Formats: sequence, C-alpha cells, structure tokens
Amino acid sequence: MVMSEQYNEQVTDSSLVGCRHCDLLQNLPPLAADTRAHCPRCDEEVGRGDTNLLNRVLPLTVAAAIFYLIANTVPMLGLTVVGRSASTTVIGGAQQLWSDGREMVAALVLFTAVIAPALQIGLMLTIVVGTRAQHPPRWLGWLLKSYQFAQTWSMIEVMMLGVLVALVKIADYATVIPGIALFVLGGLTVLLAAIQAAFDPQQVWHRIQWADESARSKVTALPRAELNSNAQNLTAMELGLQICPSCHMLSRPPTGSGEGRCPRCDAELSFRERGCIQRTWAFVIAAAICYIPANVLPVLTTTTATGSDSDTILQGVVLLWSPTGWPLSIIVLVASIIIPSAKILALAYLLISVQRGSAVNNRQRTRLYRMVEFIGRWSMVDVFVDTFTAALIQLQPLMSVAPGPGLPFFAAVVVLTMLAAESFDPRLIWDEAGVSEVQYA
Ligand SMILES: [Zn+2]
Ligand SMILES: [Zn+2]
Repeated sequence: MVMSEQYNEQVTDSSLVGCRHCDLLQNLPPLAADTRAHCPRCDEEVGRGDTNLLNRVLPLTVAAAIFYLIANTVPMLGLTVVGRSASTTVIGGAQQLWSDGREMVAALVLFTAVIAPALQIGLMLTIVVGTRAQHPPRWLGWLLKSYQFAQTWSMIEVMMLGVLVALVKIADYATVIPGIALFVLGGLTVLLAAIQAAFDPQQVWHRIQWADESARSKVTALPRAELNSNAQNLTAMELGLQICPSCHMLSRPPTGSGEGRCPRCDAELSFRERGCIQRTWAFVIAAAICYIPANVLPVLTTTTATGSDSDTILQGVVLLWSPTGWPLSIIVLVASIIIPSAKILALAYLLISVQRGSAVNNRQRTRLYRMVEFIGRWSMVDVFVDTFTAALIQLQPLMSVAPGPGLPFFAAVVVLTMLAAESFDPRLIWDEAGVSEVQYA
C-alpha cells in the first residue's frame, strides 16, 4: 500500500537519533563545540557539536568561488617542444575529448571538474547566506539535498592528481610548464576540504521551515517506557520509526502504512528502500561487464611521424614506470586497476552476505562499505590523465595523442560502481543481527 502523499508524524525531540548505517536508536547528550558523536555499534557519525557554521564557512566559500573563477580562466598546463608550444585549460581538456568523438567522457569530465564544483560552491554560498534568515525558508532544504549530490560528483582533488600524473608522463617528450590554474586548483582542493569539515547540515535542518508546518506541534508520544529500558538496543525499524535519508530526522509513518513523507524536508520515506539489493546488483553487474573492454581496449592512441601506437591502462602503468616516475605508476595501478576490481568484488560480497542473511562481521562489513564509498571517486584519476594528455599533445604532424575506445568503458566502470555504492543500504547488513548483536539490559 503506497500512501506517499501523507506526511509522517514527528515522534520526539532531537535528542533521539537513529544511525544511518545500522539503524540503531540512541539518546544523544548535548555535545560540546567541535566534538562529534559516533554510533557505539557501527562507528558512523551520529551528531556534531556546534561548529560556528556561518562565521567559518562563509569566508571559506567566498575564497573558493574566487579560486574557482581563476582556475577556469587561466591555463593549467603548457608545453614546448622543438620550438612549438601548446597549453590547455580545465575546460579545454573536455573540449578536446568532445572533438575527438568521446562525447560521453567529455560530458563526464566537464560535469565532475567544472559543473559539479560550481554547483557545490554556488549552493553553499546560497545556503550559508539563506541560513541568516530568522526562519530559513523551505527551499534551503532542497539546496541542501542538491549540495550532497554536487559534493559526491565534484572531483577537483582527483583531477589535480590526474593532471600531476599527466605532467610527469608528458615530461618524457616535452618541456612541461605548470600553469597558474594548477596552483589555484591546489588551493581550491584545500578550501573545499575545509568547507566540508566545518559545515554541519544538521544545524541548518534544525532551523529550517517544515514541509508540514503543523507537524511541529503534533508530536506523537513514543512508548517511553519501552525506549528508556532498552534505549541502547532498539533499531528505528523495531520501534516503527523511519530515518529520513536527507535530513536524518526520525518520524513515524501514518498508521498502517510502510511509506510516507518526511514532515520536515518532504523526502519519501520507507523502512528499507524497496528493490535496493536488485538495483545495486544491476549496477555491479553492469560495471563488471564494462570492466573487460575497459582493460582490453586501448585508452590512448599516440600518432607520430613514424606511425601510431595504442596503450591499454596496464600498458600505461608500465610506460610510467621509471626511476623517477614509479610512485605515479603505482598510483595509476592502484586507482585504475586495483580499486575498480576491488570495489566490484567488495560490493558483490556485501550483497551476497546480505542475501544469505549473514549476521557475522557486521562492523567489518560496514567498514568495508564505507571504504568502497570513500575511495570510489579516485578511480577517475586515469580518465583525467588521459583527458589532459590528449588535450595537450596536439602537435600535428609531429605527435598527437587521442583517447582510445577503452576510455568510455573505463569511465562507465567508475560511474557504475559509484552508483552501486550509493544505492546500497548498509542498514541491511545489520537487519539479520537483530537483538543478538546487542545485549538487552
Ligand atoms: Zn550505527
Ligand atoms: Zn527529512
């Protein structure tokens, strides 16, 4: 029965929180400034003390906006070889891919290196300014959700690493000149990390106007006796509560319904997302299929006066290996070959163990999930290496580099494994554990 139009009821004050990764309910004491509370069962962060949001995040975001504008207008990399010179900007890399007929990869590079970072900075500015209002408007919640999305897909730091690898690679053929944009991007990476560390979305969510303003006053009493005696041992689902995936608020669905809407942010709620396992499997299988052509087909084709030469990812790793270049060779090996295959295997293991109803190693499995979620983006390194190598080495008829047919497949592996990690619900790992994992008082 779907009653998705109905709002859930607010059930308690904000001291009760549910863990996003294992569903455990816990009473959160008031937290001191700059401290963080972690779930006793799975170690996920469940709350933060006051971080003085506006004072710290606003200047960082303004600085990031300035850095971003500079980084996208000045050259990032230049080279000179036998009297000829070339240079490229961030956008120039995507443009070259597009004209080489790799439109999909060009769009991905443009999105992760230019559009998503712009969204991330623009949304954060609007959020921080909007929060200054007495009662921050409802649409700020929509911006917060979009910010989450932009943050996941904004890959400035991964591009930086890719550009550095490309720089070392090209240094074999030509004199490489690091452009101003490269240093500015380094600064931008630090600023974005600082914003992420200082910004706590919960502080905005606590003050925002609700989607169902009347729900604020209609607090349904929780079975307090039940909660107090077993406070550490109940999951949200066991008490009939749902954790909002966007704003993390706990609420109770309308009687007789398994689905409703978050009264605060309007997100669709369910106890466990329907079809989550099937959807994750679909992404994992698609990634495994793309993994084969990604590694067999060449990702770069180099054309010189004497002929042309194609390299697969593994051949690229071997080519980079030199007395000075070996650390970068290892980075590309780990990011492009080991991480994607480890991610596919780890996700398949998590899915199989959940489907078999495994109740052991829950902590380790949750940690494995978080690792998969965290390292996924770094596989994009090789896409950026190939993009900027191809963008810069356009010295026809002397030498030119073009992206090969393996590159779209490789980019697809990165995107599909990221989508798989995002669609997996780690609470499924803990569902079978039930009460056996934690002892009742
Ligand atoms: Zn937990
Ligand atoms: Zn919500």
